Amino acid sequence: MFDYCIVGAGLAGCVLAERLASQAGRRVLVVERRDHIGGNCFDYYDEAGILVHKYGPHYFRTNRRHVFAYLSQFTDWHYVYYRIRVMVDGRLVPLPINLDTVNELYGSSWDSEACQAFFARTRATIPQPANSEEVILAKVGRDLYEKIYEAYTVKQWGLSPRELDPSVCARIPVRFNRDDRYFTDRYQAMPKDGYHRLFARLLAHPKIHLLLKTDWHEIRQAIPFGKLIYTGPIDAFFDHCYGRLPYRSLRFEHETLDQEVFQPVSQVNYPVDYDFTRIVEIKHVTGQRHPKTTIVREYPEADGEPYYPVPRPESQALLEQYLAAARPTGVHFIGRLAQYRYLNMDEVVDEALALFERLAAAEVE
Ligand code: FAD
Repeated sequence: MFDYCIVGAGLAGCVLAERLASQAGRRVLVVERRDHIGGNCFDYYDEAGILVHKYGPHYFRTNRRHVFAYLSQFTDWHYVYYRIRVMVDGRLVPLPINLDTVNELYGSSWDSEACQAFFARTRATIPQPANSEEVILAKVGRDLYEKIYEAYTVKQWGLSPRELDPSVCARIPVRFNRDDRYFTDRYQAMPKDGYHRLFARLLAHPKIHLLLKTDWHEIRQAIPFGKLIYTGPIDAFFDHCYGRLPYRSLRFEHETLDQEVFQPVSQVNYPVDYDFTRIVEIKHVTGQRHPKTTIVREYPEADGEPYYPVPRPESQALLEQYLAAARPTGVHFIGRLAQYRYLNMDEVVDEALALFERLAAAEVE
């Protein structure tokens, strides 16, 4: 008899398993349908011996000191700033848009003030943007919208920015200085020995039992347990009884090259050219030295593994139905699939730690 059954060995499931076993002495069963732990953060050494991220690049960063401190118990870090370039009119320029992006694209040599004046002239006046196109036009104006965002969004989502909720593009930053870091969070680092080792250490407790290649739906009647924590898709939990929540998926095409470096930074976005959205060379941020390199091209797709919830009013309405069905079950739904929300890794850890505190407090009462 297990005290807890946790469905999914991703970040949410592994953090909760670790806390429940090590801090509350609970016996925990973790059930994972894939053949590995780590969920979408999983990484591995490919045939050439290069550490690659199986499900797209995972750049860890956070402003939450307690999240960083918690994970630091299970890994050392390779400290690194993430840098991204975007291919526009045949040039590689910094993303997010900064002073250098503007100067390189317009052949200008503006300073910060002149750059701000440029944006003041070009951005559209839209006090309350109703969709993602309006959000971007209000931030950068039409030319940069068309060069950097419009076609990329169509490739990524299969929808025009006009059809997407304003929240999808609400956080696009524009900088008037030369800071070319992709993120500005206080802590930015990759697990020194890779994500897979970090996850293995989270689960390395004698009270945690792991079942890989096991779908919860196939064994749910067979295993006795106390409480259930579910990190899979919420609509699948209810056998899609109200319909399927839409997701955007990705296909990853790996290629190993007989050269040390392929591109100047870990990620280059291709908004207009090609069918792929980006090429990732993760070596730049894992810090691995190797005479060869592996690059990954990402092709957005409608079908496949569920990666990105599609933020539209219809999906929100469907989600509300599932959330209402979830409330009386006594099951704890946590993580990006169970909540149908795009969550960064640090948000997932934060929410898992908070759920553990609530569970521990409820048991004391
Ligand atoms: P998951 O990692 O999806 O884990 C859920 C697990 O449940 C999966 O392993 C799944 O196989 C399993 N499961 C589902 N159903 C069942 C079932 N019926 N039975 C058994 N097991 C089941 N975040 C960042 O902070 N930085 C980044 O750079 C970043 N890049 C990303 C890039 C991509 C392409 C994607 C898709 C996400 C990215 N993220 C990034 C987000 C990050 O992946 C998530 O925050 C994190 O993985 C969520 O963890 P989770 O445990 O909620 O979900």
